Amino acid sequence: MFEKKLVCTRCGAEYPLASGIYKCPKCGAPLDVTYHYEDIANLIEDDDPWFRESPHVWKYWMFLPVKNLKRIVTLNEGGTRLYRLKRLEEKLGFGRLYVKYEGENPTGAFKDRGSSVEVTKALEFHAKRLIVASTGNMAASISAYGAKAGLEVTIVVPEGTPEEKLTQARVYGAKVEVYGKTYDEALAEAERKAVEEDYYLTGNYHYRVEGQKTTAFEILDQLRYNVPDWIVVPVGAGTHLRAIWKGVKEFHRVGLIEELPKIAGAQIEGYDSVVRAWKTGKPVEKVEKKVPTIASAIAVKKPVDGENVIKAVNESGGHLGTVTNAETAEAGLMLGREGIFVEPSSATSLALARKMREEGVIEKDESVVVVATGHGLKDVKTWERILSGNFVV
Ligand SMILES: *Cc1c(COP(=O)(O)O)cnc(C)c1O
Ligand SMILES: [Zn+2]
Repeated sequence: MFEKKLVCTRCGAEYPLASGIYKCPKCGAPLDVTYHYEDIANLIEDDDPWFRESPHVWKYWMFLPVKNLKRIVTLNEGGTRLYRLKRLEEKLGFGRLYVKYEGENPTGAFKDRGSSVEVTKALEFHAKRLIVASTGNMAASISAYGAKAGLEVTIVVPEGTPEEKLTQARVYGAKVEVYGKTYDEALAEAERKAVEEDYYLTGNYHYRVEGQKTTAFEILDQLRYNVPDWIVVPVGAGTHLRAIWKGVKEFHRVGLIEELPKIAGAQIEGYDSVVRAWKTGKPVEKVEKKVPTIASAIAVKKPVDGENVIKAVNESGGHLGTVTNAETAEAGLMLGREGIFVEPSSATSLALARKMREEGVIEKDESVVVVATGHGLKDVKTWERILSGNFVV
């Protein structure tokens, strides 16, 4: 409704909001949707009842690029709670510590925010069948939203994807193809099939970014527009972090907030290409080896949004860091003791926040929101291994 065009995140080239375009035809970088921000700013009035509506993805419809709000594909995604963890904030020495618990989404991960928008767009573009490459959660999510929309779904996942996620996708009716050893190989296969076999390709592209930026909208809304000092996010492909920064900047642009938070991104050891590039100032290089990890959801060799993660972190004065499997497991167990069960990848944000506090990157009185991206029941076997003291297969 208020969307304007597509803009390349690297070279700035502009394109119309058409179907069949996934990356910049000129330079190959990811694209961003832009809006008529003045019109959005004029729409929201100071005392608008809109402010009192409880948060959920489509509350922020004016920031979402859909033509017809009567045709959205939704399972009531978003509206996840923001928990303040007072005991843990005292123990670890934060001013305030909050967890945005994305396990409360319909399929158990934040991916549903993006899938709702992406599958809505797929219907707008008259797609018949969807394909997606995934480390598991996006596969389950697209399967659910595809089912809701009445579309056929094929998912392509690498070997070693947690069975829980595949079973979930199958129950939603998707066809599961296990391909390659890593997410990066599965992605190449899904992109090939999309071109050669006429699938509508879903995944870490611009429409997903639009849905996933609502994580930031909700955090700011739930804090009554008091901007936290830090938002800490796990980084796999980097698309969620990039989306969160876009969301924050959009709220700023239309005058809903006056300050900006610092954004931090956590990678797991062995898959730390973005952290390395950020530290050295060199381009993001693919990590060569597949290494065992407890954090399968973020085991990405070459994150498609690596460059955009670095840009977000630098623009916000933020931070990037690597955490170990042991640190991640420990952080996950800390969340468990607060009544929050996350899958291992989701605990990397708390693990990194803790480390940043110890290193003085986060100061004593600062407020921190850690994003816990997915539910613990998504990867029970890994937790069983952790609990039996046998971390990494
Ligand atoms: C997808 C996913 C991530 C990583 O998000 P990106 O957008 O790929 O960076 C982190 N945690 C969980 C649980 C996920 O499913
Ligand atoms: Zn470009």
